[in-house]
Amino acid sequence: MLPLPVLEKAKEQLICYEDSGMSVMEMSHRSPVYEKIIKDTESNLRTLLCVPDNYRILFMQGGASGQFAAVPLNLMTGSGKADYIISGQFSGKAFKEAKKYGDVVAAASSEADNFSHVPETTAASFRADADYVHMCFNNTIYGTKFPYIPDTGSIPLVADMSSCILSEPVDVKKFGVIYAGAQKNMAPAGVTVVIVRDDLIGRENPLTPAVLSYKNMAENDSMYNTPPCYPIYMCGLVAEYLLSIGGLSEMEKINKKKAALLYDYLDSQDYYIAPVEPSSRSMMNVTFVTGDKELDKKFAAEADAAGMKNLKGHRSVGGMRASIYNAMPIEGVETLITFMQRFAKENRK
Ligand SMILES: *Cc1c(COP(=O)(O)O)cnc(C)c1O
Repeated sequence: MLPLPVLEKAKEQLICYEDSGMSVMEMSHRSPVYEKIIKDTESNLRTLLCVPDNYRILFMQGGASGQFAAVPLNLMTGSGKADYIISGQFSGKAFKEAKKYGDVVAAASSEADNFSHVPETTAASFRADADYVHMCFNNTIYGTKFPYIPDTGSIPLVADMSSCILSEPVDVKKFGVIYAGAQKNMAPAGVTVVIVRDDLIGRENPLTPAVLSYKNMAENDSMYNTPPCYPIYMCGLVAEYLLSIGGLSEMEKINKKKAALLYDYLDSQDYYIAPVEPSSRSMMNVTFVTGDKELDKKFAAEADAAGMKNLKGHRSVGGMRASIYNAMPIEGVETLITFMQRFAKENRK
């Protein structure tokens, strides 16, 4: 979902942006009016996330999946080693992609427990000469989130934050690189935001494609080639909107309330099972099952018919997953709980 005020503003500006005489979709990315849009978007994101001055914010393409390759290409050039924390589907994909480029190991994994919690790590979990440690902060499909920031000592920590970025404040300086596909919490699909510390720019493998090079993108202010102009504009509207409601600490309060409502309900009843260990629970993606695959199917179908969309769990894990990203109002969660109560009553064996 996107915040309604953002969609309304986009609608109002759809045909003619301010006094430019054209739609943002029609602008040259080199025009002064578009340059202002991308600069303002960058600066609003910087304010929202309190990004320190020694970090660049890049707008890239290829999605978070493109970063699965970009990260090793840009960073794995010292020892040629990288350590991955495997906490779900996307960290597994990132791991597999990185293996193409060097000596990559799984430093910790919770796969043996079906990813029902995130792995525990200490500084000793990682090879001291690794070029970086990679993690996925919020595991979209399994509904888990790291309750802690791994201590990697002096090794740069790289985090995929696609499904939790902008949901709460984040201590950027604890990370070497943060990246996120925009489509979960920031904008429509098409742009990938990469926040990278200055000293990690310029170490790249010479075979790095120009469009995946942090150095090239930083030197060209994300305009080496045509950027995804419209998604960046939408990202700017979302950032402006979040600032207007009080920033990420305000957003976090709302998100905590929404998630607590749903988890409190799950903990209070015995019809649905919440497979995630409480200490690893995601604030964005809440997973639950009935324990019966046919009933799970029925649940998703009936919820869909009642107007609650996309509740079917990911095809790889089944069950149900309520994605309650920033723009989901608390009323959406209340409606879901009422539906869950009724469904439980009607389908109890
Ligand atoms: C959705 C998602 C991805 C995949 O993003 P794309 O932009 O489609 O490549 C990767 N990581 C996480 C954590 C995600 O939620």
